[in-house]
Amino acid sequence: MCGIAGIFNHPEASNLAYLCLHALQHRGQESAGIVSSDGVRLHTFKAMGLVGDNIREETIEKLPGASAVGHVRYSTTGTSEIKNAQPFVINFSGGSLAIAHNGNLTNAGILRKELEASGAIFQSSMDTEVIMHLIARSSKKELIDKIMEACSRILGAYSLVFLSQDQMIVVRDPKGFRPLVLGKIGQSYIAASETCALDLIDAQFEREVEPGEFLVINAHGTRSLKPFASGATKSAQCIFEYIYFAKPDSHIFGRGVYEMRKGFGKQLAREEPVDADVVIPIPDSGVPAAIGYSEETKIPFQMGLIRSHYVGRTFIEPSPSIRHFGVKLKLNVVRDVLKGKKVVVIDDSIVRGTTCMKIVKMLREKGGAKEVHLRISSPPIKWPCFYGIDTPTRQELVAAQKNVEEIRKFIGADSLRFLSEKGLRWFKMQNPSEEFCDACFTGNYTVDLPDSPEIADYASSLQKFST
Ligand code: 5GP
Ligand code: SF4
Ligand code: MG
Repeated sequence: MCGIAGIFNHPEASNLAYLCLHALQHRGQESAGIVSSDGVRLHTFKAMGLVGDNIREETIEKLPGASAVGHVRYSTTGTSEIKNAQPFVINFSGGSLAIAHNGNLTNAGILRKELEASGAIFQSSMDTEVIMHLIARSSKKELIDKIMEACSRILGAYSLVFLSQDQMIVVRDPKGFRPLVLGKIGQSYIAASETCALDLIDAQFEREVEPGEFLVINAHGTRSLKPFASGATKSAQCIFEYIYFAKPDSHIFGRGVYEMRKGFGKQLAREEPVDADVVIPIPDSGVPAAIGYSEETKIPFQMGLIRSHYVGRTFIEPSPSIRHFGVKLKLNVVRDVLKGKKVVVIDDSIVRGTTCMKIVKMLREKGGAKEVHLRISSPPIKWPCFYGIDTPTRQELVAAQKNVEEIRKFIGADSLRFLSEKGLRWFKMQNPSEEFCDACFTGNYTVDLPDSPEIADYASSLQKFST
């Protein structure tokens, strides 16, 4: 998972890119980078860690020019190294080119083997680098044609911003897995993963980049191309962006994220009510759904857990006798809200179930809750995501290993219910071609997974079996 931003034709391009990345920090905390173009050369800065800690005024001064592209990378369990930080830059026969990528390709492994067999030397372990090799090898003349040719060979999820010396090219894969929006400040163009980035720099929201759209922005204006046959494929926008990943103040896929989350909570309340004294969220991700649940059930909403906003990535742990320290550092109970109460706890999702388990224990033992009823505003996550969200393997996903009653016992709640798969679609589809990916809940993978033949076989047999 990542956040991307691009600025074209603004005297403070790098500064605006920096601000956009700041607003998109929730999409990735592992590394941050900006590449600017002064019209002749590209200038690069990349660092491990947070935007605000690493990008300073001196950094911006070393990134001159009227266009810039930026990237924040999500912390994965894989290699967290500077060589895997983006934007990724190449110098090739066509000039200099930077790329910022959000998403995950599902055939990068196969393409990489093919490219390596014919002599390509890779500098990183990123799937993104495959795109750059394909572009460099294209025999087409124009950069946009090279990019379209490269994209015709890749599969999976890709929202991309490219920057050359004199143009910005913005791309969204035909399924539109990851969000990508366009904004303007006067005659300057802004591309960003989410609208919260546009808000911060006072850019006017123009529209979303459409699934399968290639947008060329240069001194001559803008040109939109749709090289892939549209209509033949339905979109597969990631529903998990609405549930957890995107920021609630953003509008993506045509809707406000906050309203969507509240809606999941309301639907959950209709499906799974419970007799209780108070509704509390697990902050921050569970807050809008808990508000929705409370509104629908008329059970009062309270903050029974308070989150510290100063939890860094590393801290010194005390002796092992003080257990579950990580969760305690982040969350503490409000005893006055919980003591002797029947509490409904709302969270957006269960992944491994381990955080939840610690919180339920804390609510009882420290908070004095009489009953703890856990309600989750999405269905059980049973399948890994291959399209850019870092969900663990099936072995680590608690809902892939246990049924709901077994998970309830594992977590130690008095009751546990999830939103149904049908309830996930409580909102009306206004546009018939608009479809969502929900593969992590259903196993229904809409884009082939050639890099993962085993799981692909398993997933397709499951689909045939269940329909
Ligand atoms: P669990 O109790 O399953 O260990 O953790 C569930 C929590 O993890 C939920 O509060 C949810 O907001 C959060 N979560 C869901 N998906 C992701 C993800 O992809 N990355 C991270 N860091 N947290 C996630
Ligand atoms: Fe999003 Fe889940 Fe689909 Fe991945 S599998 S793109 S997380 S809905
Ligand atoms: Mg959470």
